[in-house]
Amino acid sequence: MGATAGINGTMISEKPDAWMVTLNWRWSDSVVVKFFPDTVLFYVFLEMVVLVTALQAEFPGFAKLLSRKVGPAKLGYFLLGTWFAVFLALFVWYWAVDHLYHGDGKYNKHPLEVAARTCGVTAVMLLGLLLLPASKSSPVLRAAGSSWESAVWIHIMLGVLFLTATCGHVVLFLARFAEMGYLSDILPFNAAFFYPQNPVGGKTPSNNWTVPMMSAVFWPSLVCFGIFPWFRRRNYELFRYSHYMSVILVPAILWHATNAWYFVLPGVLLWTVDRVVRLCGACEGVQVQEMEPLEAAAATTITTTEEAQETKKKQKKPAPAERVTNVAFAWPGQARTHSPSMFVVVNFPQISLNEWHPFSLSSSPLDSTATIHVKDMGEESFSGRLHKLALAASNLPHGVVMNVQGPYGSRVNLHESQEVVLVAGGIGITPMVSALRCAVQQGLRAKQSKLRRLRLVWVARSPGVFDMFAKELSIQAAGLPFPVEISLFCSACSFSSPEDGPGAGILGPITAGRPNFQQIFEKENPGGAQLLVLACGPAAMVAECEKAARSASADFEDWSFVL
Ligand SMILES: Cc1cc2nc3c(=O)[nH]c(=O)nc-3n(C[C@H](O)[C@H](O)[C@H](O)COP(=O)(O)OP(=O)(O)OC[C@H]3O[C@@H](n4cnc5c(N)ncnc54)[C@H](O)[C@@H]3O)c2cc1C
Repeated sequence: MGATAGINGTMISEKPDAWMVTLNWRWSDSVVVKFFPDTVLFYVFLEMVVLVTALQAEFPGFAKLLSRKVGPAKLGYFLLGTWFAVFLALFVWYWAVDHLYHGDGKYNKHPLEVAARTCGVTAVMLLGLLLLPASKSSPVLRAAGSSWESAVWIHIMLGVLFLTATCGHVVLFLARFAEMGYLSDILPFNAAFFYPQNPVGGKTPSNNWTVPMMSAVFWPSLVCFGIFPWFRRRNYELFRYSHYMSVILVPAILWHATNAWYFVLPGVLLWTVDRVVRLCGACEGVQVQEMEPLEAAAATTITTTEEAQETKKKQKKPAPAERVTNVAFAWPGQARTHSPSMFVVVNFPQISLNEWHPFSLSSSPLDSTATIHVKDMGEESFSGRLHKLALAASNLPHGVVMNVQGPYGSRVNLHESQEVVLVAGGIGITPMVSALRCAVQQGLRAKQSKLRRLRLVWVARSPGVFDMFAKELSIQAAGLPFPVEISLFCSACSFSSPEDGPGAGILGPITAGRPNFQQIFEKENPGGAQLLVLACGPAAMVAECEKAARSASADFEDWSFVL
């Protein structure tokens, strides 16, 4: 089977001096398989990314190499960025330089047309890429040892590039329409759309009604994807629901750009399957077993010395109490919770029908009942209303109704490292409780383990917060093949608590101030070769912790609560 220039040699996709050309593979007299350079580039790019990430998921040594820092970024991200830049440059080159538009090159004579069309196909390709990490339970991400929440930044960056390319497409076509004297062709729902194209710039109007349709879809999409995401910290639901504009945008693009499905189809299929799986998950029955409204007074000091009382008096405004709601529930999804650090997305219809929020499971995958601990973010917030619901739960005639999607998240196995330090800041303790409980339960079951030592370092603003998790963190140390140590730090306290007795927390002594991560990591493992540090908490604390872990040559991973 030889390559031909096209079926019967008449369909030419590239200029005669093109660098990249379509390979035509004649299957039979009437069937020719065409390997378009842009499509080949797209799938080779993707396959390489999946291959490398799957290899790093399989071989810890390779993963360690990729997580080494090269300047400000990890080697893996640096390679990914370089590989993407090479792919993008080749893709743009093909459409801007090599491609013969519409077979006869009628558009190639007009530089504005070529530039506008290059932006258009680049936008479509970027849409295909950005849809891939958009599915919460993507099998591709799972195979690569990654997860939706850790790949969401890729979705965001590709989204920015997509909008930039789309705006380029629109602005350049606006200039082209102006050049031809039909500036108003850019308007949405434009029944008078003209855009002469046979020949280009001649008198025959285009009958391509998908252009005014696309203009009608583009402007609201720009608001939904370009503006609303900036307000997601203030109004998450506006951001979340306006993102469903994609349900209109993607089909519109598939209609408008006939070759779009080459790039967009895999992402659309993944997303659709994911939505169906999530819907089925959300329909599973959930039984709320207990709702516990917990409260801890804010710290001024944790001793009762005179000096401490004086400090208390000097404080003008008392800091608000810290509130956390513990929800214990039984659900079928527990069987799918294969790893600590996983999270669920929950909805309480008695609070709001349309709000779904992510929370880490604080229970271990081996616990029979699942738990989440939700920090109250303020009176009117979802978490504040959840706390109120917990206070009123015993008076509700039909109890509390809860819907759960998930679990989501990547896999972590503490037993593959010799020394593990879990670092938590405030409510960032929830995935750490899960990890610690799971490691201890597995240790007691005498599963094969490399683990020699496990330490939890937890920093909180008030000492009472530590007691909220006393039940979950009371570890049965007898029979464990490795020691477990819990170090508590109260960042807002002026004095450390005594070792035990009155003033000490249920979980043990509390040190005033912040921990010195550098000292802790060096003490835990002077060689640093086998130390794993996992951190979850405020960004500044996690950054400080990462810096110290890197300088102690420890492996570092962070679990973020910010999407
Ligand atoms: C993977 C993950 C695990 C988390 N685990 C926990 C946990 O165990 N305990 C805990 O207390 N908090 C956890 N959070 C944070 C929690 O989801 C938010 O604090 C919660 O949604 C706050 O909503 P609110 O309306 O009460 O507060 P607000 O004050 O309105 O929001 C506070 C912050 O949460 C963000 N947020 C609001 N709604 C959502 C949403 N639906 N999805 C994502 N972010 C949102 C907002 O952008 C804002 O930055 C986790 C977040 C993520 C992403």
